[in-house]
Amino acid sequence: VLDHGFVRLVDSMGSDLSIVRAARVSYDAAWRAGEDDSGDARLIRYLWKNQHTTPFEAAVFQFEVKAPIFVLRQWHRHRTWSYSELSARYRPLPEEFYVPDVATIGTQSATSKQAREIGAVDDGERASRARDVGDYRYACSLAFEQYRRLLDRGWPRELARAVLPVATYSHMFAKVDLKNLLHFLSLRLHPHAQHEIRVYAEAIVALIKPIVPVSVGAWREGELAAARSEAP
Ligand SMILES: Cc1cc2nc3c(=O)[nH]c(=O)nc-3n(C[C@H](O)[C@H](O)[C@H](O)COP(=O)(O)OP(=O)(O)OC[C@H]3O[C@@H](n4cnc5c(N)ncnc54)[C@H](O)[C@@H]3O)c2cc1C
Repeated sequence: VLDHGFVRLVDSMGSDLSIVRAARVSYDAAWRAGEDDSGDARLIRYLWKNQHTTPFEAAVFQFEVKAPIFVLRQWHRHRTWSYSELSARYRPLPEEFYVPDVATIGTQSATSKQAREIGAVDDGERASRARDVGDYRYACSLAFEQYRRLLDRGWPRELARAVLPVATYSHMFAKVDLKNLLHFLSLRLHPHAQHEIRVYAEAIVALIKPIVPVSVGAWREGELAAARSEAP
């Protein structure tokens, strides 16, 4: 993901069947040994559509993520995950920072204070953005040079790191249940979310879909219905 990042599924617990079992306890139904394709799928869609979401907490995922610090800042706003992150107090950080692709830089949005517009790039803009990327790369490299210099002069790692840019890559383990993961995906795949976190959210969808295909389908139907109702 991006130029040096990745997201990897470390571990998972449960499947669509776990959600069905958790829901069926409400009406004291018999233990479901195997999948009953149509009935189970209907139940999952019903639960999601009507926001009976607790059974979706029966499935849990743990991911390993390598991403720029500014992406992890946005990620960590999601309080229902458990995180363990690399500490630059323990070890010096390698010189690895995110450099955006020229085609995804875009321009500040004229209609949204937070967003950017990524459109088709003509040759002139491509050349000018490519020069800017050189300046961006230089600024990040210079910060790393200063960082190493401070470390060489005996500065403690926990202070020297303060000169590094938020484009620097960090690395974490992150665990979440399916209900809260789908909430994260709704927010971070939305067009208002930043491109650099959206690509991680897309990668996560691809990782969990084989494990909980019916739940992902039910969530997608909900997202499409919400998008249709938001459309002018
Ligand atoms: C496009 C976008 C732009 C954003 N811009 C900004 C910004 O400019 N500045 C900024 O500071 N943040 C910003 N955020 C972060 C945003 O405000 C939320 O903090 C973040 O999306 C996490 O959402 P959440 O609280 O629903 O999720 P989680 O923290 O994962 O929580 C999931 C759900 O659990 C419940 N919950 C969790 N904690 C509590 C609690 N303490 N009390 C009650 N219920 C709780 C809520 O129902 C919540 O929806 C932005 C987010 C997005 C997607």
